[in-house]
Amino acid sequence: GLGVTWAIDWLQLSARKMAEHRVELIELDRAIGDSDHGENMDRGFQAVLEKLTESAPDTPGAALKLAAMALMSKVGGAAGPLYGTAYLRASTALGPQEDIDAAALAAALAAARDGIVARGKAEPGDKTMVDAWTPAVEAANEAVALGADAVAVLAAAAEAAEVGAVTTDPLVARKGRASYLGERSAGHRDPGAVSTALLLRAAATAAG
Ligand code: ADP
Ligand code: MG
Ligand code: MG
Repeated sequence: GLGVTWAIDWLQLSARKMAEHRVELIELDRAIGDSDHGENMDRGFQAVLEKLTESAPDTPGAALKLAAMALMSKVGGAAGPLYGTAYLRASTALGPQEDIDAAALAAALAAARDGIVARGKAEPGDKTMVDAWTPAVEAANEAVALGADAVAVLAAAAEAAEVGAVTTDPLVARKGRASYLGERSAGHRDPGAVSTALLLRAAATAAG
């Protein structure tokens, strides 16, 4: 299974990926939002890194809780509370476990997705990060049913999230700022779905 070293590696790699993709996420948000998603996510994960230097979490759940607090206080906008809730729910789902197996991991991903839906009320097809999270959760559950280990579950989730992000291209946004554009939001990829795919890919890379 996966332990706290994986969780910390994941958060550190996430910070690197948000910095690397900052401009890309800004450009995506420029097309259908207010151009700040890359800045918001980069700032949030820099805050996660800072918290990690102040205290060393000793379980994956504690690492995700630390991340949730930093993201809630530093990302802002729509994405801050949504990602904060996601990481907090995942942390709660994992509890004090030190070693996460495939089933626990899939359950944590589902808890994260459910938290985002509870908070933002978006459904699949509304052109939001839910369109990356939902296929990721489904792929993770399928992988568990087929007997995959935790590493393979993350690989399946990351792949599905990447596909899910691409499927937002033709959609008309029904939630968030992009929904103000109505039909004009079609033909652009949702920035939050892309950041979700990047974060889940980082989780898989850190595990592999
Ligand atoms: P803001 O829109 O406040 O500037 P960000 O640009 O950081 O915040 O984040 C925008 C992203 O948040 C969108 O691309 C979308 O994926 C996500 N989002 C916005 N509203 C919702 C919602 N109600 N449910 C799920 N995701 C949402
Ligand atoms: Mg924005
Ligand atoms: Mg904004």
